[in-house]
Amino acid sequence: MSSAGADRRGVLADKVALITGSTDGIGFAIAQRLARDGAHVIVSSRKQQNVDRAVEKLQGEGLSASGTVCHVGKEEDCKKLVSMASEKYGLINFLVCVAGVNPLAGSTLGASEEIWDKIMDINVKAPARLLRLALPHMGNRKASSVVFVSSVVAYNPEITLGPYNVSKTALLGLTKTLSLELAPKGIRVNCLAPGVIKTDFSQVLWKDKNVLQDLMKRHRFTRLGCPEECAGVVSFLCSPDSSYVTGETIVASGYSPRL
Ligand code: NAP
Repeated sequence: MSSAGADRRGVLADKVALITGSTDGIGFAIAQRLARDGAHVIVSSRKQQNVDRAVEKLQGEGLSASGTVCHVGKEEDCKKLVSMASEKYGLINFLVCVAGVNPLAGSTLGASEEIWDKIMDINVKAPARLLRLALPHMGNRKASSVVFVSSVVAYNPEITLGPYNVSKTALLGLTKTLSLELAPKGIRVNCLAPGVIKTDFSQVLWKDKNVLQDLMKRHRFTRLGCPEECAGVVSFLCSPDSSYVTGETIVASGYSPRL
């Protein structure tokens, strides 16, 4: 279980991290950062070729990484992901749920049942389901931490992203609720709420300069964020530096959407 290129004095040395939606964008940056901090990371997403590419990139840096296909909406895939971690390492220290979808831009009340079901299933139910499956394998509980990825729209809804806004607000509630349920086991549950981060997912918000400028003017931020600026927050939330932090959401959006 060595992680050659990682700093062995790293704050997360020899911890095991399981990360969904982690072959690109914010999830990949989180996997890279946790591995650079010394963790063994297991990356996952829906497509095998993306998993292979991400693992190769991390291993190419000398980091301890493996991966498997996991569509978070499929329970069988989630079971496979958890089994892989427990068979390879015997335990899971960190679960980071990044995968999320937004298939709609339009009227909230115009959204179909299918759209609502898909968004709520992938963005809200899937993290809870995966945590239920991973929980029996979360060993050394004082060093265990769960991080969900919400969005700044949880606080400041974007009018055209209705069900997505609602799902991301629900994740804040899930964070608080599960932090209470898991506190007696010594497992912390926290959340990251990114603003506009330059990835494929958010292209619709930054590719058109006018759309981006309107957003920046309304919320008074001065630039796009980058995935690495999310990854540092997640590293903190997994590390002993946040040992007394649970049920919290940290916003990384270049402005503050709340008191
Ligand atoms: P991204 O760059 O498009 O990357 C998405 C990643 O998730 C890819 O690895 C993709 O790989 C995987 N994925 C997609 N659907 C999946 C599913 N059902 N199951 C498992 N993996 C899946 O997206 P991102 O910008 O990093 O967004 C990641 C998360 O951050 C989402 O939850 C999003 O809501 C949240 N967020 C993003 C922003 C932003 O501005 N970018 C802001 C706030 C919140 P495959 O295609 O191989 O599955």
